[in-house]
Amino acid sequence: MLHPLEPIYALQKKDRRLIKLMREIRDIPQRKSDIEAQLAGSAQKLEIALDSRKHTEASLKELELEVESLKERITKYKNQQMEATTNDQYRAFVKEIGGVEREIGEREDKEIELMEALEKGKAIVAECKEKLAGEKAGIAGELAELDGRTAELTEQLEQVKSDRARAAEQCDKSILQKYTRILNNKRDFAVVMVEPGNHCGGCHMKLPPQVANDARNPTKIVGCNFCGRIVYNPVP
Ligand SMILES: [Zn+2]
Repeated sequence: MLHPLEPIYALQKKDRRLIKLMREIRDIPQRKSDIEAQLAGSAQKLEIALDSRKHTEASLKELELEVESLKERITKYKNQQMEATTNDQYRAFVKEIGGVEREIGEREDKEIELMEALEKGKAIVAECKEKLAGEKAGIAGELAELDGRTAELTEQLEQVKSDRARAAEQCDKSILQKYTRILNNKRDFAVVMVEPGNHCGGCHMKLPPQVANDARNPTKIVGCNFCGRIVYNPVP
């Protein structure tokens, strides 16, 4: 005699497949938006790098203008110095010129720092551009692949659904109800095999000998005392 849990066990295999397919289909939009988010992140990094480079360039330009105007001031002082009529006046210009030269020196040191920063900034921009271009090229393929996968999985899902409906027709109605209730509760397995040493295949606790024995009996449907899953022992 066919054990009534045999068709239920077969049905469970279809349900497992169904659950797996549905999960994978459900997760695809998230995978797509993760890919898109990564691309958006890389685009943002490039924006930041470009902004930073622009800022450095502007600061450098500003410094150059300052140096230029300081140099003009020196030229002016030197002209005035030549027209000095007293030693005191002359020395005052020397002092002024020295002060301006120091200011120029400070700005020129800063210019060198900024030029180094600009070189680094340019390298970062180039790196970001390359990364983004690579990701853009890859993303189209990845997204298309995921769309293809969705179509494939949806087709498989329809097939498994109709197989499942046929398999359900082979099942005892009251056991099927019990099975469905447990599966909805446990979300993984409702029927489990008795494992060697009379352990429940669901929670792995040791079953009482009577339960392990009854799990073989086609006229009895027994549950694990610990997790409530239906235990099945097809070994004669
Ligand atoms: Zn159990």
